Amino acid sequence: MPGGQGSFREHMFLLQKIPGVEVVEVRTRDELESVAGLIIPGGESTTMALVAERWGLIPELQAFAKAGKPVWGTCAGMIFLAESAEGQKKGGQSLLGGLDITVSRNFFGAQINSFETRLPAPDCVKSYGSTDDFRAVFIRAPAVLAAGPEVEILAEYTLTPEEAVVHGREKVIVAVRKGVLMATAFHPELTTDLRWHQAFVDMVRKHSQQPDKVPPSLFQN
Ligand code: GLN
Repeated sequence: MPGGQGSFREHMFLLQKIPGVEVVEVRTRDELESVAGLIIPGGESTTMALVAERWGLIPELQAFAKAGKPVWGTCAGMIFLAESAEGQKKGGQSLLGGLDITVSRNFFGAQINSFETRLPAPDCVKSYGSTDDFRAVFIRAPAVLAAGPEVEILAEYTLTPEEAVVHGREKVIVAVRKGVLMATAFHPELTTDLRWHQAFVDMVRKHSQQPDKVPPSLFQN
């Protein structure tokens, strides 16, 4: 979404490798209406919300998700999709909501605490050519502290002993899905592993009302 903010180019680059996918940057209501699925990229969730508010897109984005069209939020996009976020400034930014999760905005700390690890691929990702673990790149990443009973947990991260002491817990959730809403705290678009994007494109294809005219958001088909 907001072509103006975040790691949208990297998402577009990977999506374009998937046959039949046409990618569109979404900045306006008309562009949003033209697509069948939307990726809300990483970036800075406060800035992203300000941009979306300024463009008058918040109600449109909420309607898009409510209409049952697939949305995938990565990192800041995950925060945006959360029903509630901790670590907000007072009067914090609008959240799009829709996903019954509570996120901690900067769970893993500042930029300097950005890191990479490998995590087991969930079934929906395993079905695309390889069952290998995936590279999970965390940049000023959020984490999910709590998820509603209907939220499917796709990936969890086991904290290091030091982190476990700081946070008083051993694990956090880092990828979730509920219906056609998906969110990841990490950035598959910063790797060469296409599987998460393939999983999302398939969600869009399956849920598209018009299979012959499948225009996902950041991409069209
Ligand atoms: N923690 C950041 C935020 O609050 C998100 C970081 C990211 O998207 N890389 O917006």
